[in-house]
Amino acid sequence: EHNSTVSIVVVGASGDLAKKKIFPALFALYYEDCLPKHFTVFGYARSKMTDAELRDMVSRTLTCRIDKRENCSEKMEQFLKRCFYHSGQYDSEKNFAELDMKLRDHEKGRVSNRLFYLSIPPYIFIEVVRCASNSASSANGWTRVIVEKPFGRDSESSASLTRDLKQYLVEDQIFRIDHYLGKELVENLSVLRFSNLIFGPLWSRQYIRNVQFIFSEDFGTEGRGGYFDSYGIIRDIMQNHLLQILALFAMETPVSLDAEDVRNEKVKVLRSMKPLQLENVVIGQYKSHTKGSVTYPAYTDDNTVPKGSLTPTFAAAALFINNARWDGVPFLMKAGKALHSKIAEIRVQFKHVPGSLYNSSFGTDLDRTTNELVIRLQPDEGIYLKINNKVPGLAMRLDQSNLNLHYAARYAKEIPDAYERLLLDAIEGERRLFIRSDELDAAWALFTPVLKELEEKKVMPELYPYGSRGPVGAHYLAARHNVQWGDISAEHPLE
Ligand code: NAP
Repeated sequence: EHNSTVSIVVVGASGDLAKKKIFPALFALYYEDCLPKHFTVFGYARSKMTDAELRDMVSRTLTCRIDKRENCSEKMEQFLKRCFYHSGQYDSEKNFAELDMKLRDHEKGRVSNRLFYLSIPPYIFIEVVRCASNSASSANGWTRVIVEKPFGRDSESSASLTRDLKQYLVEDQIFRIDHYLGKELVENLSVLRFSNLIFGPLWSRQYIRNVQFIFSEDFGTEGRGGYFDSYGIIRDIMQNHLLQILALFAMETPVSLDAEDVRNEKVKVLRSMKPLQLENVVIGQYKSHTKGSVTYPAYTDDNTVPKGSLTPTFAAAALFINNARWDGVPFLMKAGKALHSKIAEIRVQFKHVPGSLYNSSFGTDLDRTTNELVIRLQPDEGIYLKINNKVPGLAMRLDQSNLNLHYAARYAKEIPDAYERLLLDAIEGERRLFIRSDELDAAWALFTPVLKELEEKKVMPELYPYGSRGPVGAHYLAARHNVQWGDISAEHPLE
């Protein structure tokens, strides 16, 4: 520890992700004393900036934990003193060699460990990796590279990206980030399931009717549709974030919590799944909607979106896992922009009570009200279990109530941002929450055929009004599999 240093190089330091997530996460880690004793942060991008200008830019993005205000500005000062900037081209080995010189200066002869965070558009990934690897990799410690999505746009382009990366790096040096895996409640999924006796036995086709993975945003692309339009919601949210959670949810018990053991189980789930079929997909795109005096724009009103774009901003899909545990259980996904709510959650709907004593004359229809476990990933994290309960009083009446675990009420602590966990893991060499290349291949194999078919057949997305619940088609799709989407607005779970 005291003989080694870590240099964190944020490539694309002038960009949105760096400002919004990476620098604030690094500061939070520093504040929590999680960074190694000797560390340096270097911003790298083409923009011309001095160290002072970078520090000024970074300082505007830093915040303190609500519960830890004391010493905060002092800590910020100390952190900023360890931030530097180097301006260079992304394809210049010469510029990276200059960076290398500066890094060496800071390393002062200690063991050098280097983490490059590629926070740049994907078309320059390989150039940067080539230059960093040839001219700025560590001579006597480790060199790791964090890569941001998109990891290609289908099986072929993803495989070629992996092939290209592996010209310069070995698999163990590549940290493919999926920030959903760094979310507190996603981490908790395995704890919930494997450390509580009551959930494990229920976790199969025997008791679970269906599982839903829901992501919704209450805003559209709002002028940043350029990148999105060439990917669409299936690639942007489903193939990565939702599928990763599904794999964690459905995997068998891993041999241990070691990265390779966990990733082995996840990849088995992905490889047991049937490729998604067109008949099991519904796509949508938001259209303009006027509410009172406000008119919300259509997706195609966004200036950065080509006119007549067929890119889905909404999709619902039904997936199946062909193994002994999950045969026949629909795993439904729903993801969309410009919907009525902003939420990400997992819903597990259990089967009906066989031969129930309590029929509809007791005020609740047990054929409809099954137990449901809801894991709310964001916002306002929580877990609740819907149960049928007797309404207090002399009459025998039932209703549905929630057993609640509301994080804000239970834990007087701010939940760390996903990027904090993932950056810390990358520095510590913990790979469990990063995507291995065989996982990535399996994930693309599931979605590539349907993505191609949608594009070849120019399937029209069903239009839905901005701020609505999305296209009705999603309900028909669910109904075909005997599923009703869970409905947050009918629940008031965390009151
Ligand atoms: P960004 O702001 O568009 O780009 C980051 C930096 O890359 C820019 O400041 C720019 O710096 C440089 N750059 C090089 N070529 C560019 C080009 N053709 N267009 C624009 N910038 C170019 O990207 P970002 O939003 O920070 O995202 C970085 C990476 O993270 C991307 O791969 C993105 O897909 C991924 N990502 C972003 C988010 C997010 O919330 N923003 C979330 C998940 C994943 P210089 O001009 O100074 O060189």
